[in-house]
Amino acid sequence: MTVATETEYEVVIGLETHIQLQTASKMFCGCSADYANAAPNSHVCPVCLGMPGVLPVINSKAIEYIIKLGLALHCEIPEYSKFDRKNYFYPDLVKGYQISQFDLPICINGWLEIEVEGRRKRIGITRIHQEEDTGKLTHTNLNGEEVTLVDYNRSGVPLMECVSEPDISTPAEARAYLTKLRQMVRWLGIGTGNMDEGALRCDANVSIMPKGSKVFGTKIEIKNMNSISAVHEALGFEIKRQEEELQAGAVLKQQTRGWDEEKRVTVFQRLKEGSSDYRYFPEPDLPPLQLQADYLAQIRTSLPELPEARRDRFIQEYDLSLYEAELLTGSRATADWFEESLGEEKTPQRARATANWILNELFAHLKEKGAELDEAKIQPRQLASLIDLVQKGTITPKSAKEVFEEMFATGREAAEIVKEKGLPQLSDEAALATVVDKVIAESPKAVADFRAGKEASLNFLIGGVMKATRGTANKDVVTRLLREKLS
Ligand SMILES: [Zn+2]
Repeated sequence: MTVATETEYEVVIGLETHIQLQTASKMFCGCSADYANAAPNSHVCPVCLGMPGVLPVINSKAIEYIIKLGLALHCEIPEYSKFDRKNYFYPDLVKGYQISQFDLPICINGWLEIEVEGRRKRIGITRIHQEEDTGKLTHTNLNGEEVTLVDYNRSGVPLMECVSEPDISTPAEARAYLTKLRQMVRWLGIGTGNMDEGALRCDANVSIMPKGSKVFGTKIEIKNMNSISAVHEALGFEIKRQEEELQAGAVLKQQTRGWDEEKRVTVFQRLKEGSSDYRYFPEPDLPPLQLQADYLAQIRTSLPELPEARRDRFIQEYDLSLYEAELLTGSRATADWFEESLGEEKTPQRARATANWILNELFAHLKEKGAELDEAKIQPRQLASLIDLVQKGTITPKSAKEVFEEMFATGREAAEIVKEKGLPQLSDEAALATVVDKVIAESPKAVADFRAGKEASLNFLIGGVMKATRGTANKDVVTRLLREKLS
């Protein structure tokens, strides 16, 4: 009998993320970059079709956007940067080369903080460079013939490539990194970050090595994952596959593999090219970029308060838990919604009530409808007026939920719904006193018990008043009146 000795492996993951920038025009020409609903090949011109003799012009908005992301990810922005040609042939690359950046990217040496199972970790950002997107190929069957259709609307759309250091050690960390990166892109308003639309695409490099080894294992690249959960799953599969190969004594070859969404496995695509295969050289049609200090300072001042800073401020200023603050800063829209509903009332008590309404009622209702926050009919100041009604004792918390339902469905004002439903809470003392007297007169036993020291009898009497007012009485006022009258 042989006993297999299981080697323990260390996992090394680096992610290369392509992010489309949501600019009005393309990277080097005036064509519209919003091609989502456009007819194929309708957003093209001689520049993005790579006609001879044309000259590219740099889109300054795209440069501003990439610098925004770089600053948000703690990158250095060197003064000098330049564009290079990356040469390769593929039908979706109409020029035969892509304008990209090789040795002098716009952003270098940054980091992004993630949190997995309560542990915080910084993932290094090696670089973020600016480039242009390619066209799109569609393989299909046309009149019984296998054909490939090509659409150049995407050709030349601004694209950033964000390369992480190989600091990621588990699929869960990769998922957290991508989630944070996407949150930041959306937060800055520079891209949609929608993976299913290809606006954010991730290639993962993963290798494994025996624990404690100083020599990295063979790097294998995985492509074609169209969601963050697919990246998580593909990495999990690939790590296990590499372990099994190595256990069986195989030698891994550097290669590119694709994620098969249906079979949920990675499949071999090709052996990996090195960068020398691309024959990079400086783009002769574009000047080098020199980024002036005052230009960078201007962009830095234009940055919004970033997610982590805002989360920490919510904890400090409003006394919210880390969990609540994380959820409320999950997107800039949510954080804005929260602070808008707070208005001038910035007390911790009010913040807690507002956070509860948003995180419980509002989120649950949105989820049930499959809607996003910006589609909600109820507006922040309307939620504020509902909370006012509860805090002033005009309606009970229970009725408030009913009112909220209606507000969520229709976007109508709280006060209007309260009036229509006849929900006002009875806190008028004279009116309540009459009911209290009646209940006391009808419940001699409970009254006697209470006077004999049986505190629980008070609840029976309160219940009587609530029943008589169909639950609309203000419980605090009722309790006080009963105590006064029975003492
Ligand atoms: Zn064009």
